[in-house]
Amino acid sequence: MKSYKVLMPVSRQLSKEQIRDLRSLFGERLRQDVPLANYTSARVGGKGDFVLTVQSAEELETSARHLWDLEVPFVILGSGANVLISDRGVREVVILNRAQRFDIHTEQEPPTVWAESGASLGLIARTLARHGLSGLEWAATIPGTVGGAIYGNAGAHGQDMAGTLILAEILHREHGKAIWPCERLEYGYRTSYLKKHPGEAVILSGLLRLSRNTRENVQAQMEAFIAYRKRTQPPGASMGSVFKNPPGNYAGRLIEQAGLKGTRVGGVEVSPIHANFFIAYEGATASDYWHLICLVRQKVFETFGLHLELEIERIGDWEDESTTSHE
Ligand SMILES: Cc1cc2nc3c(=O)[nH]c(=O)nc-3n(C[C@H](O)[C@H](O)[C@H](O)COP(=O)(O)OP(=O)(O)OC[C@H]3O[C@@H](n4cnc5c(N)ncnc54)[C@H](O)[C@@H]3O)c2cc1C
Repeated sequence: MKSYKVLMPVSRQLSKEQIRDLRSLFGERLRQDVPLANYTSARVGGKGDFVLTVQSAEELETSARHLWDLEVPFVILGSGANVLISDRGVREVVILNRAQRFDIHTEQEPPTVWAESGASLGLIARTLARHGLSGLEWAATIPGTVGGAIYGNAGAHGQDMAGTLILAEILHREHGKAIWPCERLEYGYRTSYLKKHPGEAVILSGLLRLSRNTRENVQAQMEAFIAYRKRTQPPGASMGSVFKNPPGNYAGRLIEQAGLKGTRVGGVEVSPIHANFFIAYEGATASDYWHLICLVRQKVFETFGLHLELEIERIGDWEDESTTSHE
């Protein structure tokens, strides 16, 4: 069987000088040894050595610029709904993005919503529904922030960010701040330029396209999507779909046909309701998650000769466990 050596960045502790500089720049705002599981939807993983919470796009921009200047690596966490954080924690600075402002513009055609990247996609969708504005009904069912959705081209019910985003305000490590039209994000299925070049840029905000409708219609469509989700997807701690659907197929169907529904490693189980959802129970660890992912991938490969590609991302110190499986 084909095996890949995984190229993950090695997580190193920050130097004393870097820590001193961080403290003098961020003062009390810089928290140390922060448990991160509660900042994720899978509810597993270890601590962040250093965590910085930002409350606005401006604060996100300044913090990122400072960290790049200091050559301190960092990762951004929106709602943590698409990431698996290592039990050994995260050596990079974790920026918790709580830049949540959004403004609805109805005076021009088409109407739009501008949102900071830490704004909740679901909250925006529900607010728009109350205003009779259509375009984000699909997003009401997706946990996460606008930034996470722009980064990963989140989508559901046949629609996605690629079809909704007009432009994003991007802070690029080399080129500074710029407006990127949607095309520049080079969207593909659950991927983007930014997802393919992690660490290169930060999403500050996005402008999304809407259309006018009635409050009743938008509300009804949104509720239909939510009801469909409730019927087809399991409750509980998860990251949603673990794997991307291979072309012309469904990862969930392949996992189910490989006989893996209900398979468990430690505290994590392949959901008997939807096989691409892995549910974390009391006592689950990120390592359980990862070993279940590896097991499922191996079994699906042995059964169908197909490599399932991860939709979720791993964050933090995975050094020991990263060489044993496929990414
Ligand atoms: C129950 C459930 C159902 C789900 N259903 C769907 C679905 O139907 N469709 C779908 O597409 N996804 C789905 N997901 C996955 C998840 O909701 C999406 O991927 C979502 O867009 C993640 O947003 P987030 O804010 O949680 O991102 P996070 O998980 O916090 O981050 C994801 C990645 O984006 C990067 N990132 C976040 N913000 C920024 C920023 N401002 N700048 C640069 N990089 C950034 C992070 O560093 C990380 O690499 C589901 C998840 C769950 C738990």
